[in-house]
Amino acid sequence: MKINPVRGTHDLFGDEINKFNKVVAEVKNISQQFGFNELITPIFESSELFKKPLGEQSDVVLKEMYTFNDRNEDEITLRPEYTTPMIRAAISNGLLNNLPAKFFGTGQMFRRERPQKGRYRQFNQINFENFGSDDLFADIEIICLANTLLKKLIPNSKFTLHINTLGARENLSDYKKILSKFFNNNQKFLSKDSLDKINTNPLRILDSKNPEDSVLIKKSPKLIDLTSKTDLNNYEEIKKSLTGLGINIFEDPNLVRGLDYYCHTVFEFKSNELGSQDTLIGGGRYNGLIQTLGGKNLPGVGWAGGIERIMLLMKSIPKKQENIHLAILDPTFKLHAIKIYDFLIKNNFSVYWNYKYNLKKSLSFANEKRINYLIIVGENEKANNNFSLKNLSNGKQVIVNIDNILDYLK
Ligand code: AMP
Repeated sequence: MKINPVRGTHDLFGDEINKFNKVVAEVKNISQQFGFNELITPIFESSELFKKPLGEQSDVVLKEMYTFNDRNEDEITLRPEYTTPMIRAAISNGLLNNLPAKFFGTGQMFRRERPQKGRYRQFNQINFENFGSDDLFADIEIICLANTLLKKLIPNSKFTLHINTLGARENLSDYKKILSKFFNNNQKFLSKDSLDKINTNPLRILDSKNPEDSVLIKKSPKLIDLTSKTDLNNYEEIKKSLTGLGINIFEDPNLVRGLDYYCHTVFEFKSNELGSQDTLIGGGRYNGLIQTLGGKNLPGVGWAGGIERIMLLMKSIPKKQENIHLAILDPTFKLHAIKIYDFLIKNNFSVYWNYKYNLKKSLSFANEKRINYLIIVGENEKANNNFSLKNLSNGKQVIVNIDNILDYLK
């Protein structure tokens, strides 16, 4: 019986694991520098956590969620995103008393999308969320954090910050009405996909990639015309600060993001080295969302990044080699050998044995793997309760024991 992986899932091993671990380690490093605390939430949640907040008409809710009834008929969903679970967890555990409350997490997300390069049905995200602050510095800080992380992980790749402001939530609902009207009056210039969204989700037409739609989108009413002066000034200040930090900015008035909860600043870090799935990180402000989920009326800002997409741009990372190899010359010397094995492991060395009782094979294995030292355990060594230590870079061999071997190993 041969069982294949489920479509859209993938296994991580070898070099991919090294990259994956590097991303997670760097995320933990940076979270410390910026003062964010880790928050790990369950992989599944009640479906209602996602349905309304993400938008009943959003692609994620309409087509992509893995939803099922538990045995007692509770409706459960494998989390398709991390912001709402983080807010739910912050509310459930009373973590919103000292503000701002800053959290991060990494973990698997699930969306039933059409699989392609950089797009999977189970994938890993990094999430950073800052709850409780309206200060523009929170927007600037969290974008700067994303930029710093990408610079560390993919220093040789070019990526650009696409940014837009959606203005206050009220503007956005007025804008949706204006857009629906405009698209309804110009139906013949829209693709079939976009026609379906006119009345339910007109904002999504703006980021349609279908060339049929592009001419009409260019002529469509612009959100910026509804945005208040104060909001526009704030947006200017954010952009100026980010440019001052040396971040490449591309202002994109059609950037709306796929989920309903966004307002004010929205942004995406994109790279043109990735093909069609070109967004590495996406996020924005979601004032009002914490209240929608049963918390106080608090603002929030955050982002999510795709670990697999970042990995596509990372250089391979050489695996750390074991630095000591054992050469046990006969099965009866094993018990003696295990003493030095245990001692070295306890002293933080990496030790390897290939289960072959043969000096030649051990030597060639050690040379091939560029191992630094060989410990030979033969008849004399066993009889005298010592070990032969061969330095493979200069060929020198000495007799050592547990008391003095550390003096010889660098
Ligand atoms: P989103 O919540 O859709 O803005 O996603 C945030 C980030 O997660 C994206 O910018 C991608 O890097 C990553 N991402 C989203 N969906 C997928 C997917 N199906 N497969 C792999 N990565 C994804």
